[in-house]
Amino acid sequence: MEEFRCERCGAPLEVSPETIVAVCPYCGFPNHISGALKTEDIRIVPTLNKNAIAQAFWERVERDFDLKRMRDRIEIVDIEGHYAPYWAGTVHVEGDVEYTVEEEECHTDSEGNTHCRTVERHYHEHVDRNLRLMGSARRQVQSFGVDDVIRHYSKARPDSKRLLDLDEDGWGRIKLEILNTEMDENQAKLMMREDAVDVIRREFSSKSDRIDYFDVTADEPENVSLLLLPMWTVYYKVENSIFHVVFAGWDGKDVAATEPMPIWRRAQYLTGAVMGTIIGAVGAAYGGAAGASLVALFATLFGAGLSGYFGAKVLEGQRIEHGGRFLGARRW
Ligand SMILES: [Zn+2]
Repeated sequence: MEEFRCERCGAPLEVSPETIVAVCPYCGFPNHISGALKTEDIRIVPTLNKNAIAQAFWERVERDFDLKRMRDRIEIVDIEGHYAPYWAGTVHVEGDVEYTVEEEECHTDSEGNTHCRTVERHYHEHVDRNLRLMGSARRQVQSFGVDDVIRHYSKARPDSKRLLDLDEDGWGRIKLEILNTEMDENQAKLMMREDAVDVIRREFSSKSDRIDYFDVTADEPENVSLLLLPMWTVYYKVENSIFHVVFAGWDGKDVAATEPMPIWRRAQYLTGAVMGTIIGAVGAAYGGAAGASLVALFATLFGAGLSGYFGAKVLEGQRIEHGGRFLGARRW
């Protein structure tokens, strides 16, 4: 494989076939490797240092009811920090949506009896909005906490600097591994347009019972820029298990975490998982005996769902991820 070296200082660069930009780990220079991207526009949000993150971790322990009581048994195993690249941009969406909401309508008659019925209300809305979107510029499956860092960024809006404006001292202060960018500007724009329409669709889905007509299109994204955001993960040990907390690097806010569960809560979830398995097994047996395969199927599915649900809760990291890559950041 071809060997890549930093254009500014000649240091070797780690480059994969997906790499669009590799920021030199020695001097901070953004090396353009492939794809469409203007390296002079890359911005970076400087990070706090490792000690400040450790301090934020212990402050979090003090704040948390459960963690505080196990403070003496908590041990930090590792603190890992890096900058990851994100694409941000504004997408104008416009179109029309018709949807139906089912509402309960009640009236009381002359004899004092109340009658209720479900009525369908139809709505028509014209959409004309600018969405500010932001999403990871890496190809792999999103790592834990990435969405949370984006959400926090869009609320906090910390100052950023042009990466090229950092001199040696500036770079030395913020020095941390920078993950390679793996999505170029054209790919990012394409995904932003798709995700912008999805953001609108989800919005209408959540406020209606049925979407009857949906014709919303997204324009070419504007003000598209690549931003490097610092993210830290603190790995800690309680008894024999490892947990972690993700911190936003610029202000040390804890944005996501897996936590040791107090024993009573874990027991509660385990009971749920066991119940699910039993319902599944009994249902399958009954259905098999009676030849009622549908009953068996439903019970098995329901049981499996139940035990899966509670089982996942026991395994912590109980999170629901959204579909698209780009998140709406409407408070921009
Ligand atoms: Zn360099």
